[in-house]
Amino acid sequence: MELKYEKKDVYSTLSEKELKKVDEYAKQYMEFINVAKTEYLCVEQAISMLEANGFCSLDQKQALKAGDKVYFINKEKSLFATVIGKESLKEGLRIIGAHIDSPRLDLKPFPLVERDQIALFKTQYYGGIKKYQWLSIPLAMHGVVYNEKGEKIVISIGEDPKDPCFTIADLLPHLAKDQLKTEASKFINPEKMSVIVGNMKDKEAKENPVKANILKLLYEKYGIKEIDFARSEISFVPAFKARYVGLDSSLIGGYGQDDRVCSYATLRALIELKKVPEKTCIALIVDKEEIGSIGNTSMNSRIFDFFILQLLQKTGEEKVSELEVYYHSKMLSADVTAGVNPDYEEVHDIQNASMIGSGVSIEKYGGSGGKYNSSDANAKYVAEVMNLFDKYHVHYQLGTLGKVEMGGGGTIAYILANKGVEVIDCGTAVLAMHSTFELTSKFDVYMTYQAYSAFFQG
Ligand code: MN
Ligand code: MN
Repeated sequence: MELKYEKKDVYSTLSEKELKKVDEYAKQYMEFINVAKTEYLCVEQAISMLEANGFCSLDQKQALKAGDKVYFINKEKSLFATVIGKESLKEGLRIIGAHIDSPRLDLKPFPLVERDQIALFKTQYYGGIKKYQWLSIPLAMHGVVYNEKGEKIVISIGEDPKDPCFTIADLLPHLAKDQLKTEASKFINPEKMSVIVGNMKDKEAKENPVKANILKLLYEKYGIKEIDFARSEISFVPAFKARYVGLDSSLIGGYGQDDRVCSYATLRALIELKKVPEKTCIALIVDKEEIGSIGNTSMNSRIFDFFILQLLQKTGEEKVSELEVYYHSKMLSADVTAGVNPDYEEVHDIQNASMIGSGVSIEKYGGSGGKYNSSDANAKYVAEVMNLFDKYHVHYQLGTLGKVEMGGGGTIAYILANKGVEVIDCGTAVLAMHSTFELTSKFDVYMTYQAYSAFFQG
């Protein structure tokens, strides 16, 4: 009898047929993250995936029965999708929850300035970034603007190779002597992260002719004026596409894999359910995780309770309290974790860390220091999830985020746990998380999808 536990890599255990499936899935996943670069675009993609697979909007259904597939869009930036199960909702739900917001640069309300004959957009970063990674790389501009009539204008520039892109100009090393002496956390001043938007003059303009020319171009193309930026949500994200990384193409590099790798897997697992599940299955695709899950598009919003109340009403169980539903529900908090980076082994407790390529990662707890702010899964539930994955031959590993007191992090797990749901973190290990080019193993990416499918099937 083998008493020792040994971590194994996924690749060595897969058949030729399975390896093909990994590449097929990886290709489709990369296509998804190439298009879905903001939460708005993710929701758009999700709707088309759901509708192509027989889901309709919840408000189109007066009543719900087993096998019905519906979704609920919350302010264009988050969504809940469900397949109604055979059992009553009060027997509990099977929930998988992921987030679709990623670190990026947002425009300020009055972003456009002209300095030294260059027109610039002033930005404010969103989420936890290492600022230097965003300098001197091609950026794309995505977002929505509302004009004075309340009409929505969609902007998307920089993804098509025929489009121009944008960039923030870093300081040349020749003149960076003083800058390089400053502390690493301070050496990029966030007020100096201005995106370059142009250098040509409007010949008729009396002052700030470059800014005037940009305003003219924006008006010609989109019909927007300077004031309209105050009622917009425009973000700059890396303009490059996801690609395989390594001579063996074993890794996937791309922007926004935290947490679109889990969001995509969650959606795929839900839409591909072949049989009507016993328990009602729910995919949560939420916004604002990167800034603390605050606001009405975040997991903390009571809009999720509102969604559950609607499900109860439409399944004829309006007398059941949503608290009873939560008490019997089980969830995977589908978010990424840190994989061991061979150049920075010292931040990980290797035996308790997730290895790139060793399968989907289960994390019993996160938080920081003495498990502060962590949702610590109950041992009984950990056992249940491990047994389920064993039953479905899902290749998984167990890890923690990093050494104790090295830092820390959280997910949406605690929010559902606070409602009474059994929750555990389960997602893909990432290298260079929150960078402009995050890395995952295509085998872990595939196993994440397999894990979520197993969880929904139960
Ligand atoms: Mn995340
Ligand atoms: Mn994150």
